[in-house]
Amino acid sequence: MAKAWMKSDWRAKPRVQMPDYPDQAAVSAVEAQLGHLPPLVFAGEARRLKADLAKAAKGEAFLLQGGDCAESFTEFSADNLRDTFKVMLQMAIVLTWGAKVPVIKVGRMAGQFAKPRSAPTEMIGGVEYPSYRGDIINGFEATEAARTPDPTRMLTAYTQAAASLNLLRAFSTGGFADIHRVQSWIAGFTDEDEAARYREVAERISDAMEFMAAAGVTSETAHELAAVDFYTSHEALLLEYEEAMCRIDSTTGLPVAGSGHMLWIGDRTRQVDGAHVEFCRGVQNPIGLKCGPSTTEEDLKVLMAKLNPENEAGRLTLIARFGAGKVEDHLPRLIRTVEAEGAEVVWSCDPMHGNTIKSASGFKTRPFESVLREVREFFAVHKAEGTIPGGVHFEMTGKDVTECTGGVRAVSDEDLSSRYHTACDPRLNASQSLELAFLVAEELQD
Ligand code: PEP
Ligand code: MN
Repeated sequence: MAKAWMKSDWRAKPRVQMPDYPDQAAVSAVEAQLGHLPPLVFAGEARRLKADLAKAAKGEAFLLQGGDCAESFTEFSADNLRDTFKVMLQMAIVLTWGAKVPVIKVGRMAGQFAKPRSAPTEMIGGVEYPSYRGDIINGFEATEAARTPDPTRMLTAYTQAAASLNLLRAFSTGGFADIHRVQSWIAGFTDEDEAARYREVAERISDAMEFMAAAGVTSETAHELAAVDFYTSHEALLLEYEEAMCRIDSTTGLPVAGSGHMLWIGDRTRQVDGAHVEFCRGVQNPIGLKCGPSTTEEDLKVLMAKLNPENEAGRLTLIARFGAGKVEDHLPRLIRTVEAEGAEVVWSCDPMHGNTIKSASGFKTRPFESVLREVREFFAVHKAEGTIPGGVHFEMTGKDVTECTGGVRAVSDEDLSSRYHTACDPRLNASQSLELAFLVAEELQD
């Protein structure tokens, strides 16, 4: 019989994108401390998300995954959490209307702290520093001290994730997510002149709500209308942290990641024999796998077999991120691989990571038009292949930032400098996010 998976097995595998901590004893002390702390999520919730995702694989639900590229310690506030949560609910209502199925809401929140980088060092003001790898690893400030990996940051990340989850759970059940309230937020957006084309959809949603109220269904009579399921997710990049947060599910006796409901493997860490795949294959949470232009059919076949050997529906979400204009080159070949294997997967579209450019003004940005074009291409390919577009994955915030160009309240190249707050990749702002939801809803209608 094959040896049972152990949460530390990844340590024997080649690792990439992880820090070299200068003091191993300090790392071990933090790991021991994290190992004794309560998990952030309950295994039953991860199982419920898996069951929800199994529906998305069949087209009976639709996945909306979104949030910051990187959460940061300094940007952490109740207002920021509330605003992103609020926009995700608005988007979910619009998507529910478009897809006519329940929308599964998964935040890139309460744990999205570690970042893969294109180079181990970066030049800032003519000086070479170790790259910033996310607040759970090192600091953003350009000093040698801040950029040195510090394991105690894992404890700060745990505490911030716990506080975030506490507030998200309160928002989900405490009346903030009441559907009638969300409806009025959408009406507010479409009052803008530029958003006239979305008004008709917003009015139809309103009509449906009014009909339900007239028929006697209100938030008071239907608890489901006042509460939502909201899940958390992050890239499982920092494996010392993930291993320390791994627990045994008392119901199934199986290992489960306690750091978030869903984990994903990034495009740079999906090596079939690497440490990240080794860790993720052993936990029973739903797993996302980023698929980029360099994902080969053979890689995908091996990864599906490793990550989902039982072919369990809802276990694996393939997050396609090819870039506008490249979807047609790559998505059909990967869809055909999935179909040939008879694999159960959710296909989700990340139209962010293949569309990053440097603007004329020097900022890393993403044109809204490219984001939208990739989404359209994703839907078109699924239509042509007869397969199911199961969800979308966005980097977004509820704040009125100027990080991506375009949209109805057009952000120009020159505007980027005014409110460019991201610690990593450029995010859609609240208005761009909601606009995208309307556009995806249109695609889902066809
Ligand atoms: C991300 O999701 O922030 C990310 C780094 O994505 P990818 O691995 O697809 O590049
Ligand atoms: Mn990113």
